[in-house]
Amino acid sequence: MTDAHLNLIDGNWLPGDHLTENRNPSDLSDLIGHYASATAEDVDRAARAAHAALPAWQARGPLARAELLDRIARRIDDEAESIGHMLAREEGKILPEAIAEVRRAAQIFRFYGGEALRIAGDAIASVRPGVDIEVTREPVGVVGLITPWNFPAAIPAWKVAPALAFGNAVLLKPADIVPGTAHLLARIIHEQGCPAGIFNLLMGPGSVVGRALVDHPLVSAISFTGSVATGRMIARSAAEGMKKLQLEMGGKNPMVVLDDADLEIAVPACLNGAFFSTGQRCTASSRLIVQAGIHDAFVTRLAEAMQALRVGPALDPSSQIGPVVSSAQLRGNLDYVALAAAEGCEVVGGGMAEGPTDGFFQRPALFLKARNTMRVAREEIFGPCAAVVRVGDFDEALAVANDSDYGLSAGICTGSLRHARAFRHGIRAGMVMVNLPTAGVDFHVPFGGTKGSSHGPREQGRHAVEFYTTVKTSYSFGG
Ligand code: NAD
Repeated sequence: MTDAHLNLIDGNWLPGDHLTENRNPSDLSDLIGHYASATAEDVDRAARAAHAALPAWQARGPLARAELLDRIARRIDDEAESIGHMLAREEGKILPEAIAEVRRAAQIFRFYGGEALRIAGDAIASVRPGVDIEVTREPVGVVGLITPWNFPAAIPAWKVAPALAFGNAVLLKPADIVPGTAHLLARIIHEQGCPAGIFNLLMGPGSVVGRALVDHPLVSAISFTGSVATGRMIARSAAEGMKKLQLEMGGKNPMVVLDDADLEIAVPACLNGAFFSTGQRCTASSRLIVQAGIHDAFVTRLAEAMQALRVGPALDPSSQIGPVVSSAQLRGNLDYVALAAAEGCEVVGGGMAEGPTDGFFQRPALFLKARNTMRVAREEIFGPCAAVVRVGDFDEALAVANDSDYGLSAGICTGSLRHARAFRHGIRAGMVMVNLPTAGVDFHVPFGGTKGSSHGPREQGRHAVEFYTTVKTSYSFGG
């Protein structure tokens, strides 16, 4: 058996009640390791330790936190290649993307190291003579962070770093199918001197570990990224405990291509947005809304480029798209390919792909002649599949783009300043891209959506302070 990788609770590595296998989706014969599954009792132990450790942690002040985050950032950068290797091996993202994601995690820690020193407040004149008012920010307390499998380094980083920067204690529950990257990050955070109890890693299934975390009375806030179904469930439980809540969920992100678009920009933007990272991005362009005049030329070029993409093992330097993350996800994707045909689409690509190893390889797919009412244009697939909807003009394109339960990211390819501006103002989405893929964002600005995609304050950038702190208003009378 390979070494067992344990949970980090109150500064100790502990075994939980059983081990689960972590296997490589590019090659099922490759056993990455065994990872400990935490129990509800482990969550309780971690929550108590976190709560007890908070006063001393907060008393150390912002400089100690800034320096810790900076050390963590440097170490992540130093180990970017090996952590990226683990990420590619367990999640299936191609190696260059995986290493870039790890470097992104380092940038995020570095950014929040700076933010720790910039926690601002207000001094406001009182309406009463002799009274001073101060508005300050304080940590929320013990925060529960629940993350999905598709960005195993960046998403934990963009939750853990602001949580620590603003003086909170963390219980991190990574997705159970990608524990390896989170375990490497946890080791770094621990080794760089994060005090016992302030950062805890609790691996295992959502139904046990995630649920115990959401229900624990000492956990004051939950930040979750994942599917809408899980998000709804968490919202109900968190409401019961009156917890502060931040939910980042799915998308069905539209990319509009107008007649005046430059195909040299539109085709690569859609190819990247729809299919890179195997389409397993919440911001993936899964609805391509294309004006009639450019439709045929655009579709011909995109289909050609899509079919030329090399699907293969994540660690093979010639691969451009890695495998789907799991057999369940692959089955779901293939069901959607069949559904697209049943709903009347012309399907290009989409079946299983041959690989040199036994992995979950799928050819990317375009669903042509889709209508926005079809399930394949309304439901998040979370695989390398994009529906193409033909529209007559800009107004119809905007209406179709907005006709969705989701509102995470949206894009438009156009040469018209007027249309670009009207789209930026008219689209109901948290992030808008003009002549850029819907996926691919900066790390120092807010990230999040509207409608069914998000709930609660934004993540990332300076806006993260809203979630990870609470505001105190102090009145004093000097006599
Ligand atoms: P998921 O909802 O299945 O799981 C997410 C996390 O929740 C995992 O850690 C899981 O173990 C945990 N969980 C499951 N049941 C739980 C419960 N009852 N209580 C508490 N926690 C529980 O999502 P996934 O399959 O890991 O990720 C894919 C989804 O994530 C997609 O819908 C995608 O759009 C979304 N996503 C959103 C963003 C964003 O920022 N908006 C980013 C990445 C992924």
